[in-house]
Amino acid sequence: MPEIANVNGKITPVHEAMIPAEDRGFLFGDGIYEVLRSYNGRLWAFERHMKRLERSLREIEIVGLNLDDIFHQIRNTHAQSQIQDATVYIQITRGAGPRSHTWIATGLEPTFFMTVRHFQTRGSGNEKGIRAIWLRDQRWGRCDIKSINLLPNVMAKQKARSQGAYEAIFVDARNQVLEGSSSSLFSVMNNALIVPPNSPAILPSITREIISEIALELKIPLVEKDITLDEFYQVDEAFIAGTGDEIMGITELSGKAIGQGEVGPMTRKIYTQYRERISKGED
Ligand code: PLP
Repeated sequence: MPEIANVNGKITPVHEAMIPAEDRGFLFGDGIYEVLRSYNGRLWAFERHMKRLERSLREIEIVGLNLDDIFHQIRNTHAQSQIQDATVYIQITRGAGPRSHTWIATGLEPTFFMTVRHFQTRGSGNEKGIRAIWLRDQRWGRCDIKSINLLPNVMAKQKARSQGAYEAIFVDARNQVLEGSSSSLFSVMNNALIVPPNSPAILPSITREIISEIALELKIPLVEKDITLDEFYQVDEAFIAGTGDEIMGITELSGKAIGQGEVGPMTRKIYTQYRERISKGED
């Protein structure tokens, strides 16, 4: 089945999609995005992703869009692709115009762009776990907005991969562990899950939201609190969570074992339950 794109309503094969060179996404990174997946032809956590998309747009003051039409286009483009297990990328920028930091109140039409591609498998991380490295967080102060400005994330992930690790974990100036370059972060301590409180320093992860609901169902305590890098090295287990990666146990951080250095029982339990919810379409 073809991998397709949609630019402002025009559906084409991905390689034929065209965006004006003066699009503010290209010039300034002036836009936001979402990534979601489909399993067996069904878009997973669609409403949650659309809610976050709406919030990101509001936070960067992109206005004047017909969101119902956008949501319809996303569903429709995905359906047209007939790709059962897809990665759906959605990007909305402030639009195209002569380069100027400020935007004019009128005349700028936001650019809607999306692609539907086959989901690319992520290796053995779900079963065998992953190695990660930690890095000082160099991102801006509004990481709760899913902005297309991802340079620090790109550099961080690249550094991880060049060192044979899968993910980079951001640590803030107070030595608190935050999240991965494209994943949220969970720790396990005394059979409880620990996550940093949602704040402008991290993305409100949808996978994390679903895992919180799983924890409630399974009567696993979930504590929102910051933990330091030193404390992170003392946890029983840790895992990353995200739309693409789902759930992957962290076996090692910057060369030192996390927990027993293998995917722990709590991580496996949560992952099994997460997969169960996907198979039942419970989002
Ligand atoms: N944190 C960051 C920085 C991300 O980029 C992502 C996903 O791309 C996540 C967390 C996980 O979010 P979600 O579970 O909504 O995919």
